[in-house]
Order: sequence, then C-alpha cells, then structure tokens
Amino acid sequence: MPDGPSLIVRDLSVHYGRVQAVRRASLEVHPGEIVALLGANGAGKSSLLRTVAGLHTPSEGEIHWGAERLDGLPAHRAAAAGLALVPEGRQLLASMTVRDNLLLGAYLHHAGSLGALLGPVGRVYGSREMRERLDGVFALFPRLAERQGQVSGSLSGGEQQMLAIARALMSSPRLLLLDEPSIGLAPNLVREILGLLARLREEGLTVLLVEQDARAALRIADRGYVMETGRIVAEGSAREILSSDRLRRAYLGMV
Ligand code: ATP
Repeated sequence: MPDGPSLIVRDLSVHYGRVQAVRRASLEVHPGEIVALLGANGAGKSSLLRTVAGLHTPSEGEIHWGAERLDGLPAHRAAAAGLALVPEGRQLLASMTVRDNLLLGAYLHHAGSLGALLGPVGRVYGSREMRERLDGVFALFPRLAERQGQVSGSLSGGEQQMLAIARALMSSPRLLLLDEPSIGLAPNLVREILGLLARLREEGLTVLLVEQDARAALRIADRGYVMETGRIVAEGSAREILSSDRLRRAYLGMV
C-alpha cells in the first residue's frame, strides 16, 4: 500500500432538518485506492461525500483523515488537509476563462472567506507555484491548455468536466472526492474521464468516486460501497460487486 493518510468514516449520519440523508454510514479509503460509492438517486451518496468535504456538519459519527479529525471542520480546513471536491454539476464560473477558473479555483480551495480572497488574489495569480501547477494540469489536459483563453461556458460538457477535475487538482490534493463526473456525458467521454482517474491514481492520488453509472465506475475502482436510503448495504471489491447478481439487480440497475 502506498504511503499516506487513509480516510476513515465511522457511523456518519447527516440530517437536513428532519430529513435524514445518511444513516450511520462507515467506509474506508486507503492510499492509492479508487473507491466507488454507488446506489440509486437519493440514496445519500452526495450527502456523504459533501460531508467529508466539510460542506455539511454531520449529526453523528466521525471522519478521520490520517491523524486528523475532519468532522465538523469547515470546507477550507478539509481542503487544507489535502481533500478536494469536484462537485456535481461542475460549478464553473461560466463567463471566466479556463485559465482564470483554474487559478481562482486553486485559490478558493485555500481561502477561508471572501475577505481573504480580495487582498492576495493578485499575488496568487502571479506566483511561481501557481504557474507550475497550471503547467502540470495543462500537461494532463492538453485540450484545456489549447482552450485556456476561452470562457468556460463555451466548452463542451466533457471539457467542462475535465476543467472541474483540473481545478480540483490545482490545490495538489491527496484525496479527490468526485460527485457524479459522468453526468450528462456520452459513453466515450465517460470512459475518457474515468480513464484519466485511473492515470491519476498511478501518480499517487487517492479517489472516492460517487457514481450512478456503476458499471463504468467499477471498471476503474478497486472497491465499492453500495448505499440505499442513507445506509451502506453492501461493500466489496469491484469484482465481487460486479459478479454478484443480487447486488447488480437489487441496487445497481444492471440486468
Ligand atoms: P443523487 O444522485 O440524486 O445526488 P444521492 O445518492 O447523492 O442522489 P443525496 O443527494 O445525498 O443522494 O440525497 C439524499 C437524500 O437527502 C434525498 O432524500 C434528498 O432528497 C435529501 N436531500 C439532499 N439534499 C438536501 C437538502 N439540501 N435539503 C433537504 N433534503 C436534501
């Protein structure tokens, strides 16, 4: 197993008012793994992922990241600890260029507040570290390099998803949290994006991937967890999940 922290989620519950979206869910992601979190619409996958990223406060349970406790910490603290979320729907700034989305995305990952943003933003834009990260990301995504001066709203759906992933990589994360990267994409683009994750894993990144397209996710994942109505109802290696008729039929919509 490669070096680095593991993510350990224990008995996590998430409520929205009286609605309980996650019910005592536990999972682990070890260094260098790609772990898929699967299940139908509304099963609680995004809620769990977003809670790990610090966007929701759990109503019970623990989130450990190596020696650190993340539960209850705000998103910028999770980002500072090395976690980066690629949100569902990408959430790009449509009227800004590809390059500015990357630079600002990197900065926002570290900023605690808008006030903190306004002062140093010029310095961040010009810093050598940021230029090096930008070069690294452009080497991974040549298509984004070609389109760096284009406004992000004019990119295709696949390119926008790549930009959302690239923006998360700008903070040099150790754990990438991806929420439904395949949504709205044609099958060949889904394969391209997921293939890219497999490559990033080879470079040392650890990935927790929420996906409704279970077959595509399990093709690149090492292990998977299946959620239903807020609970984790099954877990296993990707091969075990794919070869279980019961899981495929009951939870994954595969025949
Ligand atoms: P999807 O693929 O549709 O995003 P999911 O498995 O990610 O599904 P969640 O989005 O986590 O599921 O939703 C879990 C439950 O929590 C659902 O019943 C949903 O309606 C509810 N829920 C999600 N977000 C909110 C919110 N902001 N306020 C109230 N209820 C919410």
